[in-house]
Amino acid sequence: MTCCSSCGRSTGMDDPAWRCTCGGVLELEPPPPFSRDSIVTSEPGFWRYAAALPPLAPRERLRLGEVVTPLVEAQLHGFSVLLKLDYMLPSASYKDRGAAVLMSVLRKQGVTRVFDDSSGNAGAAAAAYAAAAGIDCTILVPAQNSPGKLAQISAYGAHLVAIEGSRAAVAEAAMKRANTSFYASHVWHPVYPAGVATLGFEIWEQLGYRAPSAIFVPAGQGSLVLGLARAYEALSRGGQIDTLPAIFAVQSRAFPALARSFEVVEKNADGTDELFETVAEGIACREPLREHVVVDALRKSSGRAIVVSDREITDALTTLVRSGFYVEPTGAVAAAGLGRARLNKSAGPVVVVLTGSGLKANKQIADMTKPHGIRDSEWL
Ligand SMILES: [Zn+2]
Repeated sequence: MTCCSSCGRSTGMDDPAWRCTCGGVLELEPPPPFSRDSIVTSEPGFWRYAAALPPLAPRERLRLGEVVTPLVEAQLHGFSVLLKLDYMLPSASYKDRGAAVLMSVLRKQGVTRVFDDSSGNAGAAAAAYAAAAGIDCTILVPAQNSPGKLAQISAYGAHLVAIEGSRAAVAEAAMKRANTSFYASHVWHPVYPAGVATLGFEIWEQLGYRAPSAIFVPAGQGSLVLGLARAYEALSRGGQIDTLPAIFAVQSRAFPALARSFEVVEKNADGTDELFETVAEGIACREPLREHVVVDALRKSSGRAIVVSDREITDALTTLVRSGFYVEPTGAVAAAGLGRARLNKSAGPVVVVLTGSGLKANKQIADMTKPHGIRDSEWL
């Protein structure tokens, strides 16, 4: 069941609506209580948490070899942290969690053609799971995005439509197209956050059925915040955890929409506080659709949103890849935020979510991390 956040109208799960007839944002009903007994232990990946997802029989769940992604100890900013390697999902980003569940639901509802707009990872995930579902898929993308991601999207068989201009121009083009085609929006569709919530359950299970003290995620629209908040609400209602983990939404200094609710963001010379350009293209979002819901979730968790500069993102990226973790620039944003958060070191496990693979942005990473070339003389 979904409910409109504007007019309160309810919609059943057999209706493939991506927004309310009044134009309002649809939200999934609150999650049912979740406990250890709810886990489907025979499932190897995020379908383990099917009890927290819209009803899908085992044969209705799309599978591309999802795994429980590794949680690996590492040192960052003098901190001992656990890196959650969510780039090790089938299309190489955490977006597979939302896309797998959304495409499974749409296939069940009889939807055969969809489109989405995406700055990259969401498009690749949608294209991958649409291919698995046999759903015809079109992805609108900003023309200037990473060639690696565009190649991946079209390789899955999706139709790629490049839109000139900003990310906002792409969103506008999507709204026009939504009049004539089904908009499987990773931002608007109410099912997507439920899929992303599997990340929260997975971390809890990997920590021996405990919540971490803090989780760092990159944030543009804030879908990871919504997903994690949903998971930990379900676990709290199920009596599994006493305290919610503090969620830290790390934003680019260039797009500080969420952080403005928590700190004064430094102004530019012209009085604006946005720069409109960042190395972290995956979180280049001016106006998050569910901004107030995301900010409320952060407050409830005792976390907050923080901004980091491109310099800090570049440093974090360099540290990660030099340690062997090959992430894309947006995937390094959460690690950059850890340096700003001034956490209490004795508080308990801290998880940093690495969201997307560096293999999608080889050239950009090479430019940002300036690898040392080997000179002929060193060979001899
Ligand atoms: Zn409505």
